[in-house]
Amino acid sequence: MDTIMLNLILFGPPGSGKGTQAERLEEAYNLVHISTGVLFRSEMDEGTELGIRANEYMSRGELVPDEVTIGMLKNKMLSHADAEGFIFDGFPRTAPQAEALDQLLEDMGQQIDALIMLDVPEDEIVKRIVLRGKDSNRPDDSDPEIVRKRFQVYQSKTAPIYDYYNEKGIAFKINGIGSIDEIFQNLCDTIDSLHV
Ligand code: ADP
Repeated sequence: MDTIMLNLILFGPPGSGKGTQAERLEEAYNLVHISTGVLFRSEMDEGTELGIRANEYMSRGELVPDEVTIGMLKNKMLSHADAEGFIFDGFPRTAPQAEALDQLLEDMGQQIDALIMLDVPEDEIVKRIVLRGKDSNRPDDSDPEIVRKRFQVYQSKTAPIYDYYNEKGIAFKINGIGSIDEIFQNLCDTIDSLHV
């Protein structure tokens, strides 16, 4: 296959707007959006074994173990063998997940072209998640204690992923404060400047 593919990681703390922007990018660039959070929640809703296992961790604000998450992601990618590229949202969240993703893509003759981080300060994030918790039925958004825990996990395990891709020269940061349209425009400008 010699079509040009585009594989992006949309990165940032919980509540930074990744899901909203990923949906728009999916359409604009004809990519397949894979959100591990969405995948876990749909497994939970269906009451699958994987969903039950994932819920034990998610309800505490902890990460689901790497082997479970990586296995689920791999299946999802393989089910889209004809994709023109992927937007990864909520993945990778740990160093082993980043290494597994690079290996999976390499096996498919592909690579990550860019990681783009939506930069949002912590106090703004807390406000957004509490607001989202009011009208979503996500229990992990409603309890301030769990939200704080997710932050700690983001800072300690996930934030270092930025440096992993920055060392490869493919990490970008954009301001995650502003209108949805403004942020989307900045994302598109960053993507269009890539030499893919
Ligand atoms: P948010 O980005 O708002 O924290 P997500 O919907 O991406 O929410 O994820 C919700 C929860 O699902 C996480 O707190 C975690 O428990 C679990 N989860 C999602 N993605 C991963 C991942 N890549 N590795 C481990 N756990 C994950």
